[in-house]
This record gives sequence, C-alpha cells and structure tokens, in this order.
Amino acid sequence: MRLLIVEDNLKLSAWLAKLLRAERYIVDCVNDGDDGAHALQTQPYDVAIIDLGLPKMGGIDLIRATRDRGVTVPILILTANDSLSHRVKGLDAGADDYLSKPFEISELEARLRALSRRTATSKRAQLSFGPLVLDQNTRLFELAGKQLHLSPREYALLETLFRKAGTTVSKAWLMESIFGFEDEPSDSAIELYVHRLRKKLEGSTVSIATLRGLGYLLRTLEN
Ligand code: CA
Repeated sequence: MRLLIVEDNLKLSAWLAKLLRAERYIVDCVNDGDDGAHALQTQPYDVAIIDLGLPKMGGIDLIRATRDRGVTVPILILTANDSLSHRVKGLDAGADDYLSKPFEISELEARLRALSRRTATSKRAQLSFGPLVLDQNTRLFELAGKQLHLSPREYALLETLFRKAGTTVSKAWLMESIFGFEDEPSDSAIELYVHRLRKKLEGSTVSIATLRGLGYLLRTLEN
C-alpha cells in the first residue's frame, strides 16, 4: 500500500514515515501543497495524509484541487487546529476523515486501514484467492494456512497483484505501486521481487505468470 504524507513539519513527517515504513507501507513525503497536488495527480496512492496548514497551497485548497481533478484517493486530514469549522471545511472540500494532532500512531493506522477498506472491492477483513489469504487488518498473507514472510517490497508487490488477481498488471503499474520517490525503480528490481515471490509461492496452486510485453498475472491452477 502506497501512502503520501503532505506535511510541512519535517520532524513529524519523518517520524510518521519511519513508523509507517516499519509497518510495510510504501511512503512518500512532500512538504507543501504544490508538491502535494503534483504528486496526487501523477502517482497512484492508496491513501493521502494531508496537514491543513501548509505552505504554498493550504490543505483545504489542495484537497479541493485534487477532487476537482477527479482524483478519488481516500484523504485523511491531520489538523493541529481542532476547531469544528476546520474539520467541516476539510470534509466539505472532499476529505474522508480527520485526525487531530497530537495523535497515537495506532489510531492513525486504524484509520488508514478503514480508509483503504472503504475503496477495496470487499469490506471483509479476509480476502482470498485460491489458497492465498490476505488479512486486511493485520496486513499479513497466509498461504494454505501458513503465514508468508515477506519483505516490505515483496508484500507491496504481492498485494498489488492480489488485489487485481486474475487480471494482468503492467510492469509500469507495479513499479509505481511499490516504489516511492526515494527509490530508484527499475525493471530488473521488479523481476527480482517476482522471482522471490515465485519461490515463496512454490508448491502451491497459486502462481505469478509473466505475459511478455504486458505484465504479470496472479493466477491459480483452477483458472
Ligand atoms: Ca503545518
């Protein structure tokens, strides 16, 4: 799952990014509203976390501009200003939820899970594809009842394929889903992660197929 944090308090955003990366999220940070607008219009995010008081373009204007462009990413507002009118303005501009600073990381994570479930195809906690099961609450995969141990990148790649299981996912889309701004995405890195995932799926009825020139497909023997 790829997240964008738009926050001008660098200490706070670095702290948040570190904690969320430890939880296997792919995290990008930008520090003003203009960069936030650009990122949201050009990259696929699963959730955006937006501070309201931002330089260049304020949070409310950023949310409005994002929605005006037809970007439907779930938006969580972070606000230091706990006044009712700020929260109402944010929600009216098109945000989905808000959290007042200071907040507990566990509450932020619960809200991120709730927001990503809102856009997911199924609201159930457990999704399955053949013997592969994803628990959307713990964000862990099980294969035939056994937990799969995955690196953050392997997890992000498998999650992207899993959510589109049965359909072909292009390499370009995979790259944008699993690499943040600080990474250097490459074709060969994707191939390496696919190779590692294939090893971990070996012996089961679910596999990753390569469709030359098109991308990758998570499939089961049954289909
Ligand atoms: Ca701020």
